[in-house]
Amino acid sequence: MLEPFAAVDVIRAKRDRHILSNDQIDWVVDAYVRGVVAEEQMSALAMAIFLNGMTNHEIVRWTNAMIDTGDRMDFTHLPRPTVDKHSTGGVGDKITLPLVPIVAACGGAVPQLSGRGLGHTGGTLDKLESIPGWRALLSNDEMMQILTDVGGVICAAGDGLAPADKKLYALRDVTATVECIPLIASSIMSKKIAEGAGGLVLDVKTGAGAFMSDPDLARELAATMVTIGLDSGLNTRALITAMDVPLGFAVGNALEVQESIEVLAGGGPQDVIELTLTLAREMLDIAGIDADPAEALRNGSAMDSWNRMIAAQGGDPAAPLPRSHEVHEVLARNTGVMTKMDALGVGVAAWRLGAGRARKEDPVSAGAGITLHAKPGDHVTAGQVILTMYTDDAQRFPQALEALDGMIEISPAGTPIQRLPLILDRISP
Ligand code: URA
Repeated sequence: MLEPFAAVDVIRAKRDRHILSNDQIDWVVDAYVRGVVAEEQMSALAMAIFLNGMTNHEIVRWTNAMIDTGDRMDFTHLPRPTVDKHSTGGVGDKITLPLVPIVAACGGAVPQLSGRGLGHTGGTLDKLESIPGWRALLSNDEMMQILTDVGGVICAAGDGLAPADKKLYALRDVTATVECIPLIASSIMSKKIAEGAGGLVLDVKTGAGAFMSDPDLARELAATMVTIGLDSGLNTRALITAMDVPLGFAVGNALEVQESIEVLAGGGPQDVIELTLTLAREMLDIAGIDADPAEALRNGSAMDSWNRMIAAQGGDPAAPLPRSHEVHEVLARNTGVMTKMDALGVGVAAWRLGAGRARKEDPVSAGAGITLHAKPGDHVTAGQVILTMYTDDAQRFPQALEALDGMIEISPAGTPIQRLPLILDRISP
């Protein structure tokens, strides 16, 4: 086949800060998936985009070109309105686990096609796989059946969804081109648009433990994704939420499932409950459902949806969850008020304990992680246990402890605490 462009010309154009044409974008994305544009050429183009940016028009076109490399799912025949949520990822961010059954219990259908964790943020599938018997891989028919019967499904995204993104994301990971708004926004939105839900709520994290630690960049990322959604007719809204401190008290796969079950049972940490309910309200509003998600927690219908959702995927919701047996407690060095617990530090420590993976083929430990016993604002006494670490291999403790160096501060009582509000902003079209 005679190619209409040469990759080197497209790279040169972006290097020289030109706006890429629709045809150039459509071609370069498709040709990359076909193997005509080589990895080193796409690396150079990704770096040029990283350095010189893209207009909104280019980003929308790039997103659509990525969608067109694969399949689009279709949920329009389901008897319930479909709505999805995506988080840009954070430490202790288990919100999807209670959120999906809550929205399902209120009458929505949530097709959550998730990924596995990479780096210091955990993956939803890794968390659920700590439930004995639960399986992430479903056929399309199984997924549709569970969505119809229960209203919520959390499963692995098939290879056919935006394959260009899979290839490009792996390349960006090794070429220092991940933290780039046009590339992040198009990566996330290509998968979410191809997934075919009727509405989407984005949870864009900001703070030390987030991709976009600067709130202004998080706002820009959120606005870019809302624009892409709007262009595709996907009703999209975004919340900018805090990730300076881990969410809840549990970080690690089975530990986070346990905490999610506590929320569904009517307990659990205040920040997890508040964020879950705020996102649920946005999702129900988009879906046109007039229901109170807090009531679904109170009356047990959300827990019922959870049990059915887990059982439908082979899991035993009543089975005990794994817990790693090597335990190390970290004690407060002094008495006072906790003024800092850095989400990134805790995330990296949990990752080093075995909760996360460094390469995508690595296994994760279901029972490894960290339980927090105090958070910023709490009074602590010297010698008090402030966190407990769990791992399968005690040799992992020193490196995990090193990740916490300087990440937790205890100051004299009365010292003001600087924390981001849980919900910083809301962006809608
Ligand atoms: N998540 C994605 O799916 N893509 C990115 O580029 C960053 C986070």
